[in-house]
Amino acid sequence: MPPSPPTLSDIVNSLSHYDPDAIPVEQAKAVIQNLVSPVESVEMITLHHALGRVLAGDVLSPLDVPGHDNSAMDGYAFRGADISSSAPTRLKIVGSALAGQVFLGTVQTGECVQIMTGAVMPKGCDTVIPQESLQDIHADYLTLPHGVVRTGDNRRLKGEDLLKGSVAIKKGTLLRPVELGLLASLGMAEVTVKRKLRVAIFSTGDELVSLGEPLSPGNVYDSNRYTLMGMLSRLGCDILDMGIVRDDPALLQTAFRDACENADAIITSGGVSVGAADFTKQVMATLGDVAFWKIGMRPGRPMAFGKIHNQDKSAILFGLPGNPVAVMVTFYFLVRDALLSMMGATPSPVPLIRAKALFPIPKKAGRTEYQRGIATRGENGELVVRLTGSQGSGVLRSMSEANCMIILPHEQSAIAKGEDVDIILFDGLI
Ligand code: AMP
Ligand code: MG
Repeated sequence: MPPSPPTLSDIVNSLSHYDPDAIPVEQAKAVIQNLVSPVESVEMITLHHALGRVLAGDVLSPLDVPGHDNSAMDGYAFRGADISSSAPTRLKIVGSALAGQVFLGTVQTGECVQIMTGAVMPKGCDTVIPQESLQDIHADYLTLPHGVVRTGDNRRLKGEDLLKGSVAIKKGTLLRPVELGLLASLGMAEVTVKRKLRVAIFSTGDELVSLGEPLSPGNVYDSNRYTLMGMLSRLGCDILDMGIVRDDPALLQTAFRDACENADAIITSGGVSVGAADFTKQVMATLGDVAFWKIGMRPGRPMAFGKIHNQDKSAILFGLPGNPVAVMVTFYFLVRDALLSMMGATPSPVPLIRAKALFPIPKKAGRTEYQRGIATRGENGELVVRLTGSQGSGVLRSMSEANCMIILPHEQSAIAKGEDVDIILFDGLI
């Protein structure tokens, strides 16, 4: 029997210093990563449906790429040994090699063949002179100018990009447009990927109102489920939207059990704050091994994390805070990598970029802060960043105006104008 995976208690008990009431971001991340494991099932799908899916195993190239020595330029192919070390060389034109149309003869000493980019190098040839390097071309001969080309120039070798049998794409790769093209270039119409991760979401809080319902005083629309749906869709998860669950122990228990039955992970928002007067925490605690953390971060201090069970099923639980910006920040910086790991993907760290603060940024040492920023090019072409308006954790508009997150590490105190900070841009090219 394989050893049973560690429980949350095993993981936190093995830490030399663990205080759920003051847990640094890095430790929270590590505990989360240690508890989650990738889904096992795989499925074979066509390339048409493969964007964003996770490769279940290494893809080995069934071909040499390119399949033949071929020309990198439009020009003339010939024997490099014919190049004279001292004078122009005259070559007889004996035919042509076009894309997809192979020159069948063997090119002899003193001969050349007109060739197009990508066309197979004719037998005997190892060198191509580009069309634009030639001045003296006639119907049946040309003159190679002296000193413009060396043996092997402008030739791509068989297998130079990828050798048959070598790893073309690694297991755990999230398939992007380029990988779809790469798979197609290898003649693969289908690919084996991990099954999609199923994530159940619901919102808790008696003040919440669903869209389409009237808003009474003291009520707010439930926006968190929509941000969560967007973020989960971008990750390629299947979403089980369970709506708003009222603050009633029986209803909450049913919701958690249902979610556990049908999903790999459960993400809730609300009800985990310090001193929250609702039942969410109590119910979570009765269903499994759940820690209630106060994380050294802002926004996003309170969070529940663990694994809950229902009969023989279990699911990883992320109980996020209720504040809309805190939901996004905890998702991006604590949940996202965990879900990627569960999807079987190899999470690659999102690159941090340095930018100059255009204004002072208030910050307290002893917690990691994620502030909303707008990054632009400064007068001297350098990257500069300023804060969007209010940094209150409920102000979703400020997140919408931002194009980056400014990340201020645990020990950092206030940032002076002109100091460099780390940022993560929200949107990239792909
Ligand atoms: P809580 O963490 O439950 O104390 O909630 C913190 C704040 O977030 C409160 O102002 C809630 O009204 C708000 N909030 C909680 N859940 C949601 C939600 N689903 N959509 C929008 N705001 C929410
Ligand atoms: Mg609440």
